[in-house]
Amino acid sequence: MSNYIVLVKQVPDVTQITDNAFDLETGTLIRSRLVSVINELDSQALAFANQMRQDSGDKDSKIICLTMGPPMAEEVLRYGLSRCVDTAVLLTDRALGGADTVATANPLAFAVRRVVKEILNEDNDYYVVCGMQSVDGDTAQVPPQIAEELSRPCIAYVTKAEYKKNRFEFTRIISGGSQVVAAKKLPVVITVAKYEYPLFATFATTRHANRMEIVRWGSEDIKATHIGVSGSKTRVIRVFPPGKSTRKCRQVADAESLAGMLVACFKSGKDEAGQTSNDQASHYVLPGKRANKFYRSFEGTKKENEDFNILADILKELGISKISRIDDAAKEKILAAAGEHFHKRALDDMLNGLQLTEPSFSGEVWVVAEHSDSVIHPATFELIGKGRDLADSLGTKVGVCLAGCNAESMAKELIAAGADNIYIIDDELLSVFDPTAHRKAVADAISTYSPQIVLFAATAQGRMLAPMVSYRVGCGLTADCTGLDIRDSSRRGQIAILLQTRPALGGNVMATICTKNSKSQMATARPGVMKRLPPNDSRTGKVIKHKVQLSKADISLEIVKTELGTGDVNFNADVIVSGGKGMQSQDNYERLVGSLCDAIGKKLCAQVERGASRAAVEQGFVERMHQVGQTGTSVGPKLYIALGISGAIQHMIGVANTETIVAINSDPSAPILKQCDYYIVGTVEDTVPKLVQALEA
Ligand SMILES: Cc1cc2nc3c(=O)[nH]c(=O)nc-3n(C[C@H](O)[C@H](O)[C@H](O)COP(=O)(O)OP(=O)(O)OC[C@H]3O[C@@H](n4cnc5c(N)ncnc54)[C@H](O)[C@@H]3O)c2cc1C
Repeated sequence: MSNYIVLVKQVPDVTQITDNAFDLETGTLIRSRLVSVINELDSQALAFANQMRQDSGDKDSKIICLTMGPPMAEEVLRYGLSRCVDTAVLLTDRALGGADTVATANPLAFAVRRVVKEILNEDNDYYVVCGMQSVDGDTAQVPPQIAEELSRPCIAYVTKAEYKKNRFEFTRIISGGSQVVAAKKLPVVITVAKYEYPLFATFATTRHANRMEIVRWGSEDIKATHIGVSGSKTRVIRVFPPGKSTRKCRQVADAESLAGMLVACFKSGKDEAGQTSNDQASHYVLPGKRANKFYRSFEGTKKENEDFNILADILKELGISKISRIDDAAKEKILAAAGEHFHKRALDDMLNGLQLTEPSFSGEVWVVAEHSDSVIHPATFELIGKGRDLADSLGTKVGVCLAGCNAESMAKELIAAGADNIYIIDDELLSVFDPTAHRKAVADAISTYSPQIVLFAATAQGRMLAPMVSYRVGCGLTADCTGLDIRDSSRRGQIAILLQTRPALGGNVMATICTKNSKSQMATARPGVMKRLPPNDSRTGKVIKHKVQLSKADISLEIVKTELGTGDVNFNADVIVSGGKGMQSQDNYERLVGSLCDAIGKKLCAQVERGASRAAVEQGFVERMHQVGQTGTSVGPKLYIALGISGAIQHMIGVANTETIVAINSDPSAPILKQCDYYIVGTVEDTVPKLVQALEA
């Protein structure tokens, strides 16, 4: 009989975000202006666990709901108790506040241990079920890190569970398709990516839930090893509003006008609005190589940076070359020259910062390669491009960690893409991706060679592997970065650190984060954002073979079935017409996408290919090989036409490099309308035939 420990979180309702929910100065969210709700994917996880309990036929198995948060987080436990939960546990303590993912996963894992000991009477036959990610954190890091702390496997991005032969088989999302897996042994942590059968409460169950006793624990009760701000390994240094979209977001009145615009955009070549600002060159120079040794590339506010520059100029003018020689009289002179710009305390702070010239981290810049069947994932090449830029600034090398079976054949391509050293861990047991075995291999290589930066692609695989590896080697990790730059943090005693910028709260704010208390700075970066370098076959590099002791016991999952979309699809076409779930049926997809492809092909004399969202593929409208997005293919045509596609981040990542994006959607508040260049609000059934007619006219 299995039991289920479901982790839930209380989050601000980001679907209700209005402009006044943000502090315009800092870009931070004013929590009190938003209602708090249960994280949507966690409520799906609860329903999923309940379905597992029913399917297994074990009526006596228990569902325990666990949350960590302030006392008011009790509300989400009552939500669970009114639906399917038998026992609710609230982990609440001021000491737990301000935590990053490490300092969240760690106490939660310790609380799981206590649940098992005291509520499940040491019965290790249990599943930890979590939502894939929370809407406020958006990292998907906590569940794999809990698994790592518990030394258990993690099955991430699960969409379905089937009870067969006394065990569960889970369908999960992977790059390029889906996979059915089973855990070799319980307990196991699973994360739910989608489960659309919500549970409802009745008056009676709500009354019952309100009377139920909740178990309350503080940090002393669980004896966790990393808690709160001090146990965190990352620090948010800046929160700011996201820049305006570079897309035009222009509504078009009718299909005739849209037809004209399609032709004009296609003929005019690169549409300025369609450019993404991906060029993230850091242009960082180490202090020892700067024209004025007192110049700092400081990560602070504009004013702080100006102050540093003014001070550097004054020091030069006064002929001061050694900070240690600055006495009170010299300080007076500096302050007199600075006038109103800064006062004594700020000067002391800056002078302390200027004493530092040595980089805070040392070692290579590493990229962890992702590959399947000897084909390297395009995101790996993008990361090598970015890694090259960072390594050149830091005066170090780019290393690629390549774990697989017969992997050496890929080394040449990685070197041509910009890598210097390829660290190969070759083992039969690494022939297909297993989170536990790959984590062991990669973590071992990182511990041996101590790179200063480690980058993973924010793909389905990378977003699971990176949290496990970083937790294992005791380093901080930032998820889904869209910006990576080297800067100094002189005031905080750090030189040449990696600033990791990422969208948070569903893209409503941007946060810049840096790593602390770690040997390496680790990040996952969104595919399609960093730039791949043109391959240079004349580049040379070194292959270093690293041996890791692996045994069959390191394989945690049995792969039952893998379904990948492969076939003849020309995603290099000039135009891609994609259909989403809004196409409603396979017939509609065939008829509407097909006729629009034909009409555009004829009118523009261009190659046109069919694409689809993941939801459309899952509905069976079209083969998986047509899927565009994070776990499908990333495309960059001149023109991308999205029919009945909502604009989920996982889809839009795959079209970031498109010149012009056009959307037809019946919902005026569909997210895609804020991420495209031209759109029509209308049904595809009504609009597409008119558009085809106008193109044919
Ligand atoms: C790990 C992971 C990886 C993923 N990878 C991918 C990926 O690679 N690619 C991908 O696409 N998704 C991916 N997803 C799924 C993604 O999160 C979304 O669920 C998916 O993109 C939604 O597809 P959709 O827009 O077609 O469907 P929906 O979100 O259901 O949107 C349908 C849209 O159609 C509109 N509509 C409905 N009827 C009509 C009509 N008659 N006429 C016009 N418009 C209509 C609606 O207003 C709505 O906006 C991934 C998810 C996870 C968790």
